Amino acid sequence: MPASRPSASRPRLLRPTPANLTRLAAALRRGEIVGVPSETVYGLAADALSADACARIFEAKGRPTTDPLIVHLAAARDIARVALVNDAALALASAFWPGPLTLVLPKRAEVPDIVTAGKPTVAVRVPAHPLFRRLIRASGRPLAAPSANPFGYVSPTTAAHVRDGLAGTSLRAVLDGGECSVGVESTIIDLTRPRSPRLLRPGGLAVEEIERVLGLPVARPRPARLAAHVAAPAPGMLARHYSPRTPLVLHPRLDAAALARLAPDEAALLLRRPAASHDGVTDPRLHALSADGDLREIARRLFSALRALDAAGWRRLHAELPAGAEGLAPAIRDRLTRAAARS
Ligand code: AMP
Ligand code: MG
Repeated sequence: MPASRPSASRPRLLRPTPANLTRLAAALRRGEIVGVPSETVYGLAADALSADACARIFEAKGRPTTDPLIVHLAAARDIARVALVNDAALALASAFWPGPLTLVLPKRAEVPDIVTAGKPTVAVRVPAHPLFRRLIRASGRPLAAPSANPFGYVSPTTAAHVRDGLAGTSLRAVLDGGECSVGVESTIIDLTRPRSPRLLRPGGLAVEEIERVLGLPVARPRPARLAAHVAAPAPGMLARHYSPRTPLVLHPRLDAAALARLAPDEAALLLRRPAASHDGVTDPRLHALSADGDLREIARRLFSALRALDAAGWRRLHAELPAGAEGLAPAIRDRLTRAAARS
């Protein structure tokens, strides 16, 4: 009989019992990495004040150390442990924390360079998932955590995604907190110059809500050169990230004419359910992210749909991009655009 892979190389999924939370908090204090649920995507957490512990995150993910980590806190009042606060940060923290908003602020000396990629700033957030906050509190440490996936691959939105993606690494356990309720990463705002806030990453909180609280416009990065990626991905224009292995082609709309051109071994990810065919037969190549185009539902289901399609053996995937600057549309466009980038 062939030897099976040692089960020790596969992280265990742990139910959120008090005993398991105590066990995981102790592991974090010993400098181990732990898979954690959040409302955005699953995280790979370590003691943010230990450079050795954080090094294990980069090692397990294959993440370049030039890419800094977000530090997670149990409550907004803990922010002064890791960052220098300003009024704009306090206003956003009180409006949106716990929640999918990350603030970049000047860092305290206690935060090791590996967390911030040597920058003088640190990214901080209070997650909305109550189990993540309980684990932070039980560990007594701020927890640095990027998404719990191999660097560059589709982000994980279930504990099983984490187990399957990080088997064979030093990760031993994943706290199972169910499916992520937001499903895309946090919105990141640079507040190092509080009068000139800048969007670093669109995410689970709409930028117009942030502007309403600040009473200031938030500078957005130049719109990605999307046109170059629509139906004809050009190399080198956008960082590849969040990517399935199957080639992915983006479209502003996948209407009936476009779907009629779909090859038998190609699948399409649609924003809303297409009108049923007259004989009621559903086409197995078509996958709708929502019934009616609801952006929150689309965001929640996006990464697990990309994973499922990637595992199904299609030769090529097609996806429809949501239009507009409101709500979660920019975040969904950002993830799909990077997922489709060739390099
Ligand atoms: P992830 O952990 O995959 O959600 O990615 C975290 C992202 O946060 C990084 O890729 C950076 O874009 C951003 N980030 C973290 N720390 C900083 C910082 N100090 N300054 C600017 N951006 C940061
Ligand atoms: Mg990530």
